Amino acid sequence: MNNQHPVSVTTTCSYCGVGCGIVVNKDKKGNITVEGDKNHPVNKGMLCSKGMNLHYTVNDRSDRLLYPQMRYNKNMPLQRVSWDDALDRTAAVFKTFIDKYGPDSVAFYVSGQCLTEEYYVINKLIKGFIGSNNIDTNSRLCMSSAVAGYKMALGEDSVPGCYDDIELADCFFITGANPAWCHPILWRRIEAHKAANPHIKIIVADPRKTDTCSLADVHLQLNPGTDITLNHAIGRLLIENGDVDLDFVKNHAEGFEQYKKIIFQRTLDEAAGICGIDKALIILAAQHIGNAKGFMSLWTMGLNQSAVGVNKNLSLINLNLITGHIGKPGSGPFSLTGQPNAMGGREVGGLSNLLPAHRVLTNPKHREEVEKFWGGTQISPKPGLTATEMFDALNEGKLKAIWIICTNPLISLPNVRVAEEGLKKAKFVVVQEMSNKPETLKYADVILPAATWTEKEGTMTNSERRIAYLNKVVDAPGEALPDAEIICRFAKKMGYHGFDFENASAIYDEHAQLTEGTNIDISGLNYSTIKNRRSVQWPYPKGETGHGTVRLFTDKTFYTPSARAIIHPVPDENTSEKPNGDFPFILTTGRIRDQWHTMSKTGKVNKLKQHIQQSFLEIHPDDARRMHIKDGDITVVSSRRGEVQVKAQVSNTIKPGVVFIPMHWGKILNNDLNRANNVTSTIVDPISKEPDFKFCAVQVTPY
Ligand code: SF4
Repeated sequence: MNNQHPVSVTTTCSYCGVGCGIVVNKDKKGNITVEGDKNHPVNKGMLCSKGMNLHYTVNDRSDRLLYPQMRYNKNMPLQRVSWDDALDRTAAVFKTFIDKYGPDSVAFYVSGQCLTEEYYVINKLIKGFIGSNNIDTNSRLCMSSAVAGYKMALGEDSVPGCYDDIELADCFFITGANPAWCHPILWRRIEAHKAANPHIKIIVADPRKTDTCSLADVHLQLNPGTDITLNHAIGRLLIENGDVDLDFVKNHAEGFEQYKKIIFQRTLDEAAGICGIDKALIILAAQHIGNAKGFMSLWTMGLNQSAVGVNKNLSLINLNLITGHIGKPGSGPFSLTGQPNAMGGREVGGLSNLLPAHRVLTNPKHREEVEKFWGGTQISPKPGLTATEMFDALNEGKLKAIWIICTNPLISLPNVRVAEEGLKKAKFVVVQEMSNKPETLKYADVILPAATWTEKEGTMTNSERRIAYLNKVVDAPGEALPDAEIICRFAKKMGYHGFDFENASAIYDEHAQLTEGTNIDISGLNYSTIKNRRSVQWPYPKGETGHGTVRLFTDKTFYTPSARAIIHPVPDENTSEKPNGDFPFILTTGRIRDQWHTMSKTGKVNKLKQHIQQSFLEIHPDDARRMHIKDGDITVVSSRRGEVQVKAQVSNTIKPGVVFIPMHWGKILNNDLNRANNVTSTIVDPISKEPDFKFCAVQVTPY
């Protein structure tokens, strides 16, 4: 690594969907340092604790997988093999299963951290050539309720606004989100805006008093699962107060009358009782929204990860629609994406029910367009297995082989022992990974070492539809390869044409071409345009010359068949697991400030461990007293599915009857009792199939 040419290049943070610009400096030894990119429109030089420590995760290669490994049968140990041997055998096994059991006997489970080009080739391989739609991603655990909500209300999976709306808004409704910890750079922009304009109003709805509440003018500390009731109550008050945009509702939306009927079924007193909030606070929140010239609703997992996640999304989007706060500066329903490239993955169709460019799998015309373009096999009309369904299918023996890329389902899936059992029963498991840490490796028949951030080039799309280029700065260690190259090599071993891409840029060109004429048309883009502009917002059709499309729906025309936005009169019931005498508490899970997902990167950085060093149970003092638990005591949190043992953090920041455990921790040595998903529920939203991570019934006792 000595005597390399020092370089300084721009790239994008690989953690959250904010998508901050980063300058990477490489020294003569090949080590890198990072700083915020002052010229980047998203972060303007700022980075949060995770972003500013990213270089440690690249420079420390002590945990990296360096060469392919394989075992010839389940009783043999893994051994080092060549890339050709690993991919030849994988191709032979896949062909055997596909011939014997059909294309749906194999599946790919990938990640919202994959680059767009990687997503594209995996999706093309399984849907266009293998002939199955069995590709799903950990974005299913994250954004799929928001995707369905947008599609049902606006006709397209599309965030209408942009981050620059933050400085133009005068009222924010932040619900089911803690941006102070989970989207810190956006939060700093909101903080700065509020500091300069103290009159702007911030409303936060959350059962926990998080750091985001520190700036809240109104904190609606609602009972978990009651978001729809709250949103309906606010909607009712907006109507009663005359704060509805009648022109918008009459001429650019449909469904208002049915909506009115449903929200007037509950009185404000009833709603306040169900939500467990003082009704005066709901009245105040509705007044702030009603008085706003620019109103942004911001949400994330608190709404998405729910048994009724899609309905929660729709009930919130309704507030923007009835007030006409959409498609104009400082306004809009803005879903904060969890992962850095969940949106890019969907653009190429990387979910089991999608086709490229948000085409619809069940639409024969869409299938035909893609089939013709790819020139492979017939695309199956049957939606593939979703994230949780894949592991159920492994348990049932229906799925024979699974290929896991850049994600650790043995920490992140709900009721995680189902996934563990599934991997034990799988006939063939391929794990494509950069780190030797994930538990999935224990079940792998083939391990493929992958390059990571700064070791490969590609693109990602952040929460505001901004496509950014990520530079390659250093060589990957050992024999690790970029994920897209691994997939293309495998596809060729399978005998498929159409994977002879010269480089990542060529993959991008093909993807861009396939979007032409769709709502997310980026046919005017290629690597050189993205690099010249640094980043652009889609759509970006041919002939476009600027930085893309800042806001959608500015002409109040939507992508629905009627071209009107749809106000959905959703019921306000919650179908989560019900607490009872044996399991009286509601458990909700979530992130902490300085860790990311399952910690395979942030867990390597000492500085990031200082903030919170171990998992914990946040519990209200009244509940702790009743259960004879003191601060720092080890507690046993049990559900109908399993058990977690973590230290109590007694705090009045959480609502009585509710407890919280962070999602990040998995096994420590051989102890998996920190793992929150030992106890979480397998209930999923019926439309989005997103799991109910934010609500399960548990008991809490002293150890
Ligand atoms: Fe990275 Fe998100 Fe932090 Fe920005 S806010 S530096 S994208 S983790």
